[in-house]
Amino acid sequence: MSDSAFNPYEMAREQFDKIADLIGLDAGTREFLRSPMREYHFAIPVHMDDGSVRVFRGFRVQHNDARGPAKGGIRFHPQETVDTVRALSMWMTWKTAAVDIPLGGSKGGVICDPHNLSSREQEAICRGFVRQLARDIGPVRDVPAPDVMTNAQHMLWMLDEYETIMGGRHPGLITGKPVGMGGSLGRTQATGYGVVYTLREALKELNLRPDETTASVQGFGNVAQYAIELYHQIGGKVVCVSCWDQEAQAAFAFFMKDGVDLEQLRGMTDRFGGIDRSKAEAAGYEVLPGDAWLEQDVDILIPCALENQITGENAGKISGRVKVLAEGANGPTTPGADKVLHEKGIFLIPDFLANAGGVTCSYFEQVQSNMNYYWEMDEVLGKLDLKMTAAFLAVSELARKKKLYMRDAAYVISINRVATACRERGWV
Ligand code: GLU
Repeated sequence: MSDSAFNPYEMAREQFDKIADLIGLDAGTREFLRSPMREYHFAIPVHMDDGSVRVFRGFRVQHNDARGPAKGGIRFHPQETVDTVRALSMWMTWKTAAVDIPLGGSKGGVICDPHNLSSREQEAICRGFVRQLARDIGPVRDVPAPDVMTNAQHMLWMLDEYETIMGGRHPGLITGKPVGMGGSLGRTQATGYGVVYTLREALKELNLRPDETTASVQGFGNVAQYAIELYHQIGGKVVCVSCWDQEAQAAFAFFMKDGVDLEQLRGMTDRFGGIDRSKAEAAGYEVLPGDAWLEQDVDILIPCALENQITGENAGKISGRVKVLAEGANGPTTPGADKVLHEKGIFLIPDFLANAGGVTCSYFEQVQSNMNYYWEMDEVLGKLDLKMTAAFLAVSELARKKKLYMRDAAYVISINRVATACRERGWV
């Protein structure tokens, strides 16, 4: 099968099987962990603004909750599939285990394109999603959060619907809520900043000074924007970003030799991270085909868009200068591409470690919601940095000691933690 035709669920299982072999996982535990524990498929009928009724398909997949309530975002995407959600739920299990927070893994998705939906229609989808699931999610069962094309407003609508059904106030149902409505300061920044905390540690390990490095970023949504913000603060220079252009139905890359101006780009970007091409051109950016982000002569690549972007077919185009690949997105690199990266000696910070800042801050948000006492920004970011740095160091130490590829080292740690929890509960 061609690498780019990869099904993400197959890919997540291939990654898992490789490590199950490596650590000699027993057959029962392997069978249990290579599939989700529970999944829900449902229809969400919505009265559209034009008077018609449209039916949207929704999924929630709870991969594992041995270490704590299942945890994971909800994506709105026109190409969503249940297999993508299954893969993402599995990666959430490894992610919460990698940063050692007391949560499991889940994911949700709705097949829809918010670009073409009014605010009221999106609200109806959010409320409809919760109506289908209210008894199967909850603060001690499964806790949703934002993901691709969902945000704090969507989370608040979902919370409000849940509280309407259940009665009372249950802020621990969901994370990524607006600040002031049970949200945590720093949650918006957390995923992108977390990528850079791990990147900073990787650069230390490679004896590279951040202010002597350049980077190219795929995507310009929430994760990408905050990764760029903190990477610039530590002295780095992003020379290329790419994003999806909804009108053209194609991706484009924006190149600026002296470094992109984050604030300027934000000023010409829609709420989904789409950069206005003519405004960017007028501001002096060179507009290139979307794939160009991968081929830049930079030290660092930071994919922050969707899964399945770096494949066995295009990984050969990565410049010989690239030293680090930090996966801000979930599942951006296929196993075929992993082989190429490994051969090229590129230091990989795998997705479920690099982008774990979001769920780590979600955990802090739950803790704050439970106490009904909210921390200052410094406290949130300080705790986030500590967690991310400790998780990175544990993985990189194991990789060094056992001469493992970073993704494999992270998997060894996470799978062992989850398998131990399942065993100690007497499940397997
Ligand atoms: N959707 C984010 C992720 O993929 C955050 C999940 C969460 O906060 O629960 O990690």
